[in-house]
Formats: sequence, structure tokens, C-alpha cells
Amino acid sequence: MRFDILTLFPELFEPFISTSIIGRAVANNIIEFKIYNIRDFAANKHKQVDDYPYGGGAGMVMAPQPLYDALDFVLSKYQEDKPKVIYMSPQGRVLTQAVAAELAGLSNIVLLCGHYEGIDQRVIDRYVDMELSIGDYVLTGGELPAMVFIDCVTRLLPGVLGSQESIAEESHTGGLLEYPQYTRPQDYKGDKVPEVLLSGNHKEITTWRRKQSLLNTLQKRPDLLEKAELSDDDKKLLEAIRQELMIDPEA
Ligand code: SAM
Repeated sequence: MRFDILTLFPELFEPFISTSIIGRAVANNIIEFKIYNIRDFAANKHKQVDDYPYGGGAGMVMAPQPLYDALDFVLSKYQEDKPKVIYMSPQGRVLTQAVAAELAGLSNIVLLCGHYEGIDQRVIDRYVDMELSIGDYVLTGGELPAMVFIDCVTRLLPGVLGSQESIAEESHTGGLLEYPQYTRPQDYKGDKVPEVLLSGNHKEITTWRRKQSLLNTLQKRPDLLEKAELSDDDKKLLEAIRQELMIDPEA
């Protein structure tokens, strides 16, 4: 998968693309990056990329000229398999695990990072296929959102994580939160690992984990349970949890 990133701050991406799992994915040719400084495309003498908003108001807006030229340049590199142009924006579709899974199927993505008050609307109208938000809050620039998105998508690509199982079982993949995890030692300062995990009984461990997953979701994110696809066994486990906690499902 190839990411072309358009940003005013390319240096922000350097440690990100060379470290840990993302760095390994680059080294293993699973993902590749081309990072462009939008300022390099500014045609004016002072390399200015922003200007005052028409109609007045606070802040500056990223002007069309450098962005049109940058996007034309990047898109001209593709003859076929045209990339999807995504503008990181608080006005976009909110990134979820399901959205990430959908976009992980693409081969080429152009990520446009805004700054200041955002970008001239004509850039969005002409070039942008999708606006993508990382949540209902506003950041100073699209660089962190772009990194969040890249991280989230990359770990779904085959060969990036050691085991695809970790994806299948983790929070949000199946609509629930994950069960609690423990590692050695069995007893740390008197705090013990649940007995069932030491039993070697895989069926019991699976049932315990599913129940903990349901309990976690019920306690931390009950809104997710309304949308989750639950089997008959899940419903029975949930009923047992509610009885243990004495929660009225109708309440
Ligand atoms: N004036 C814009 C608005 O109200 O919609 C907000 C602009 S924001 C200060 C500057 C840039 O940060 C945006 O162009 C976008 O690229 C990025 N950004 C801020 N919050 C974001 C979010 N939640 N998700 C994705 N990108 C975001």
C-alpha cells in the first residue's frame, strides 16, 4: 500500500515512518511513503501557502494554488490504479475499525493534511474523494490524524502483525471490547492471574474470555452492545452477567 502525504510539516512523519511496527512494515515493503511539502509548490516569491478568508473572520486559509499544483503533481504519477484522495478533516466521516478495514483494501492513498483554518473549499470540490475525521474534536493540523489513520490501517495489512488472530479478537473488530490480558508472573506482589487462564482448558478459557469481553463492553461501552452481533451463547452469557451484577436489561 502506498501513501502519498501532502503536508506543511514533513519532518513530523520522519520518526513515525521509521519506528516500531510501521518502520518494519516499510522495511518489509508492505507500505511505502512519499511525503511532499506543500510549501515547495507555492509559486509566489515568499513561498506563502495561506491567505486571509474571503468574507472576513479569524485565521488563515490554505490557498488553492500550492494545493492544486501539489495534487496535480502527485496524481500525474499514477497512470492506472488512481489513488483515493483523502482530506483529514474534523468534518469528515469518523474513523472506526470498520472504516479502517474498508480502506485497508486500497492500494494507493493520497492524504492531504490541512492547517490553520483548513483549506480552500475549491480544493475539496475538485480533488477530494473522502473527508476523514479521527473524532469529534479539532486539532491544529492534519498530521496527527494522518498518522493515526496510517497506523490503524497498516496493522490490518497481512504480514504486519505477528498473528492475524490478534486482530480478530481485539477491541472493536467484532463490535465488542477485548477481554483483560495477563502475562508472567502468575503472582505479582499478591495480585494474581485468574485461575482459569492457567488451567490449560481451552474451552473454558474461550468462554471466560468471551464473558469478560461482554462484561468489559457492558461496563465501559454499553452503547456498543446495542450494535454488536451476539450469538445465542453470547446472549446467555450477557444475561448471566446482568444477573451477577443485578442489572435490569430494560432499565
Ligand atoms: N476550521 C476547520 C473546521 O472548523 O472544520 C478546522 C481546521 S483545523 C484547526 C486545521 C486542520 O487540522 C484541518 O484542515 C484538518 O486537516 C486537521 N484536523 C483537525 N481536527 C481534525 C480531526 N478531528 N480529524 C481529522 N483532521 C483534523
